[in-house]
Amino acid sequence: MDIQTIGVIGAGTMGNGIAQACAVSGLNVVMVDIDSAAVERGLGQVAASLERLVKKDKLSAADQAAAMARIQVSTDYSSLLPAQLVIEAATENEGLKRKILAQLDALLPAQTLVATNTSSISITKLAAATQRPDRFIGMHFFNPVTMMALVEIIRGLQTSDATHDAVKALAIRLGKTPITVKNAPGFVVNRILIPMVNEAFFVLAEGLASAEDIDAGMKLGCNQPIGPLALADMIGLDVCLAVMEVYLKEFGDSKYRPCPLLKEMVAAGRLGRKTKQGVYSY
Ligand code: NAD
Repeated sequence: MDIQTIGVIGAGTMGNGIAQACAVSGLNVVMVDIDSAAVERGLGQVAASLERLVKKDKLSAADQAAAMARIQVSTDYSSLLPAQLVIEAATENEGLKRKILAQLDALLPAQTLVATNTSSISITKLAAATQRPDRFIGMHFFNPVTMMALVEIIRGLQTSDATHDAVKALAIRLGKTPITVKNAPGFVVNRILIPMVNEAFFVLAEGLASAEDIDAGMKLGCNQPIGPLALADMIGLDVCLAVMEVYLKEFGDSKYRPCPLLKEMVAAGRLGRKTKQGVYSY
C-alpha cells in the first residue's frame, strides 16, 4: 500500500511527536484533536521541537519549513478522509478508544488502515470492536517519539499480513526500528520494564540500599541510561502501579503483585516528577 498521508488522532505528547516524525519523513499529516487548545498546543510543540533541531544543526531551515507545511490540524474528523493510515493516539481509555474507532468506521473508506498507539489495551479486543479487524494493528511509539528509535508493532489475532507489512515499512520510513510482537498485556518492552521498576521498589522497601545506590547500581552495572527508580518518577508512579495491576489481573500470576511501597507512595500522591515528589524530590 502506498502511504502518503497519515491521520493522527490526539495532539498530546505522543500525537504531536508522531505527527512531527511523519512530517519530517516527507509524509502529509492531518492531526485531529477534540480540543482546539490541544491542537494549537500540539502544533506549537512540533514547531518548537523543529526549531531546536535547526539550532542544533540537525535540520535545515528549508526542511523545517517543509515539515511544518505538511502538517494540517483540525478538530473535525472528516479532515482524516485523505489518510491511507490513521494512528489513534488519544487518551488511554478503552471506552474512549472504542468510541473513536466507531467514528472512524463510519467515516473512512474500507481500505484505510487504522493503528492504535495504546500502551496497555488489548489490540485483539480493539480490533474486534471495529469493522476492519484485519486492517487494524498496534503501533506503539516510545516517548519522546522523535528521539526514541523503537516502534513495537503489535499484531492482533485478526491483523492481516498486508496490514502488518505496510505498517512495518512505514516505521522504517520514519527512521525507526520496528519489532513485531503478538498481542499480550504490556506487549514486550513494558512487560519486562515495569516489573523491573516494581522490583526496584521491593529492593528499596527491604532497605537493601538507598534509592541513589539502587539507581547507580543499575546504571553502572547494567549500562542503563537512567536508574529504575528515577525512571519510575519520569513515567509516573501511578502509571507504573496501574500497569502492574493490569498484569496481575490479566495473567493471574502473583509474581506481578505491585510492591506495597509503590502503592503507599501513590496513595500519598507522590507520583513522581509530575507532582514534584516521587522517590526523589524535584
Ligand atoms: P496526552 O494526554 O498527552 O494526549 C491525549 C490527547 O487526546 C489530548 O490532547 C486529548 O484532548 C485528546 N483526545 C481525547 N479524546 C479525544 C477524541 N475523542 N478525539 C481526538 N482527540 C482526543 O496523552 P499521550 O501521553 O499522548 O498518550 C496518548 C496515547 O499514547 C495513549 O494511548 C497512551 O497510553 C499512549 N502512549 C503514551 C506514552 C507516553 O509516554 N506518554 C508512550 C507510549 C504510548
